[in-house]
Amino acid sequence: MSGGPDRHCYAGVEAGGTKFVCAVGSGPGDLRAVTEIPTRDPESTLGEVIRFFRSRRDSGQSFEALGMGSFGPLELNRDAAGYGSITTTPKPGWQNVELVDRLAGALGVPVALHTDVNAAAAGEATWGAARGLDHFLYVTLGTGVGVGAVVGGQILHGVHHPEMGHVPLPVSPDEPEGFVPVCPFHCACAEGLASGAAILARWGRRLDELPEEHPAWHLEAGYLADFLAGLTLTLQPQRIIVGGGVASEALLALVRDGTYNRLAGYRADLAQRGSMASFLVLPRLGQRAGVVGAIELARREVNRGQGAGGTRDAAPSA
Ligand code: ZN
Repeated sequence: MSGGPDRHCYAGVEAGGTKFVCAVGSGPGDLRAVTEIPTRDPESTLGEVIRFFRSRRDSGQSFEALGMGSFGPLELNRDAAGYGSITTTPKPGWQNVELVDRLAGALGVPVALHTDVNAAAAGEATWGAARGLDHFLYVTLGTGVGVGAVVGGQILHGVHHPEMGHVPLPVSPDEPEGFVPVCPFHCACAEGLASGAAILARWGRRLDELPEEHPAWHLEAGYLADFLAGLTLTLQPQRIIVGGGVASEALLALVRDGTYNRLAGYRADLAQRGSMASFLVLPRLGQRAGVVGAIELARREVNRGQGAGGTRDAAPSA
């Protein structure tokens, strides 16, 4: 694919519920001036983001476009009136906050916006664990659960961006009595049952603070195996990358076993237990995956504007 590191420079923003990570650069080996801005109200947070990038440009680090991977939901239909906005987020003060026009107007460059998981997927496709793959999923297990899907080389997008973190899951018979799933919309969905917030609500601790014999590990792995087996059968990815603060090699080892058992040899290339090791993997870009992915969105936006996107790098904001 054409998306290797290049000498052009882009701005990237990973917009999260607790912090905005901003950087200027061209890829994971060339990240300059990475900064973290706490997520407060939209006015002060976006104001600080804009001041940061203006100061970078004033000190000689100019950039051709800005990419942003954001928490959502987002309006990403370029023909919609509210294009480029956060829409119905439960995060107080951030409903219907316009991002694209505001940043493009303040910084004078094209702005590409996508969901945080799709930005991370774009970064992993170009530089990470999904290089050379046409079909893969990027799953984030953090406070919430999100999934970015690339199918046929394109970021999957319907009328809205997919919300696979909210697909229903059967409640485990091993669920502790009295636990109430944490998703305010659906209760028994992947996010409600298997997110970092669900683990904290259920056990009062993070998963990595609990010993390996604690039932939290098998409960979490069971939910994720149900979830990932379902996504595998739905979208038939070549690989699933699992990132976010809850993900670890110890958890993935259990999830590989569970997913393998649920698929039960139905997919020929995953019919050997050992095949799961390269099917379910951690991200290769690590902690900077989000902001690196945002820089990749900016690069694609410039190529899109020049009509040089090619098939694999076609505009993510379909
Ligand atoms: Zn839900």
